[in-house]
Amino acid sequence: MRPAVARRILERLALEYPGATTELRYSNAYELLVATILSAQCTDARVNQVTPTLFARYPDARALAQVQLPELERLIQPTGFFRAKARTLVRVAQALVERHEGRVPARMEDLVELPGVGRKTANVVLGHALGVPGLAVDRHVLRVANRLGLAASDDPDTVEATLGRVLPRSQWTLASDVLILHGRRVCRPTPRCDRCVVLSDCRDGQRRLRAAARPTGEARFTPRRPRAVSGGRRAQKPPRSFRR
Ligand code: SF4
Repeated sequence: MRPAVARRILERLALEYPGATTELRYSNAYELLVATILSAQCTDARVNQVTPTLFARYPDARALAQVQLPELERLIQPTGFFRAKARTLVRVAQALVERHEGRVPARMEDLVELPGVGRKTANVVLGHALGVPGLAVDRHVLRVANRLGLAASDDPDTVEATLGRVLPRSQWTLASDVLILHGRRVCRPTPRCDRCVVLSDCRDGQRRLRAAARPTGEARFTPRRPRAVSGGRRAQKPPRSFRR
């Protein structure tokens, strides 16, 4: 896709979702890192219910690094997979203390070296808490970017690289936020193309609407599968549990 079209799509979505940002509540990079890890397989709203107590008791990495696992598991139980998440949080906190004096580093290379932290989590923290553009690719971004033709891959790292090439770096965080919101509200797994503000730039959506308008009995719409994209960035590390 041409960068000019990609930017036009981003501008329309930014107008549609003014103030788009992560729905996780946090006051610093440490808190956002913890909240993002907890949000794996869990809604942001549920994470926001447990983090106030968690952050009050363990306000920084040094405190969290010394927590007793049963206590932490009890606090984060509502977020699901709480035993694995508790172990990950303690390991992350210990790594922050040992390698970064308890602070969250502001470089992708350092963040993805933390236990259980993948590019998505790193980009969320960079983009929202550390002032470094971050293009987090979650399942919504993956779906919407492919339907819009902004990318053509089911690999998050490849989609991140593709979007990064066609969008200005300064817009990466915003792009991720508006694509996530669009994926949650309109371009859902069953998309609402008839109410989509970027329909004029979406061939996939136009095909869906044409197919829906055909008389009964004609061939049903079949979404195109993403084409393989060559030259994209490859995953830097293999998946870990709760790597996001
Ligand atoms: S037109 Fe439909 S498929 Fe395309 S982005 Fe909008 S909702 Fe998604």
